[in-house]
Amino acid sequence: ATPTALLVGTGRGAQLGILIKGPEVLESTRRVDTVVLDKTGTVTTGRMTLQEVYVADGADEGEVLRLAGAVEHASEHPVARAIAVGAAERTGRLPEVEEFANVPGRGVRGRVAGHEVAVGRLAEYTADLPPELARAKDAAERGGRTAVVVGWDGVARGVLAVADAVKETSAEAVRELRALGLTPVLLTGDNRAVTEAVAHEVGIEQVIAEVLPEDKVDAVRRLQREGRTVAMVGDGVNDAAALATADLGLAMGTGTDAAIEASDLTLVRGDLRVAADAIRLSRRTLSTIK
Ligand code: ADP
Ligand code: MG
Repeated sequence: ATPTALLVGTGRGAQLGILIKGPEVLESTRRVDTVVLDKTGTVTTGRMTLQEVYVADGADEGEVLRLAGAVEHASEHPVARAIAVGAAERTGRLPEVEEFANVPGRGVRGRVAGHEVAVGRLAEYTADLPPELARAKDAAERGGRTAVVVGWDGVARGVLAVADAVKETSAEAVRELRALGLTPVLLTGDNRAVTEAVAHEVGIEQVIAEVLPEDKVDAVRRLQREGRTVAMVGDGVNDAAALATADLGLAMGTGTDAAIEASDLTLVRGDLRVAADAIRLSRRTLSTIK
């Protein structure tokens, strides 16, 4: 490849809203046959809102919201923001949290008003849910919502359902990627039922769900061992290692700095259709040089 043609390709990329780390990136872009898409914030908007609150028999809805909202207030995760905002809207000022701890891909813990509170999919609360909460959680997940459990002092007290919308451009982006001969795969830490609902909506068949942040890298490596050349598109801190491991990493420009730093390409406007533009551009740039 001549440096001039690659630089022209890089300039054209900037016009399309694609920031390219270096001209050589276009070479790896061309060989890609599989595109792994992170769900939250990449295929969906990542702007979640609190939809439903379910409480265990005998628990108080206001208290579930206040304690969960207080702990989530300390986290930046999209699920956390939805819960903190929803709880504050419904109950007013949130109490203070002490000894906050984030458990990546699982949830949060902290002490609020003298209680040891946890929110998320933390084993001690999700393993043995009272039947009314188990039913509420299943129903929410079948409906495509992310359901998290709120518990304190060893007892599960409620389930909060949050939802996030698929971006308007995602289904078209998936069609364009397929038209280029690429296989899309949806990858997420979220629940399988939720993920399948999103996959169905955008036209993806292959789903890898309930993956812990550190295991996203393994999911990419496994595809590579099957002989695939993998592009990964992501936005979150949790995606950074997988973006660096993929043959080609694409970050959403709307995402975290960690994801952008780990990637070869950045899609400035966070529009997934531009991932297809990037593949098309690299194929065209490189075919004019050969
Ligand atoms: P994704 O891969 O879709 O970006 P994550 O790996 O960040 O998702 O999170 C996976 C799951 O862990 C979430 O769907 C949620 O159930 C749970 N979780 C993560 N962080 C939190 C949090 N702060 N509060 C509640 N649940 C959380
Ligand atoms: Mg994400």
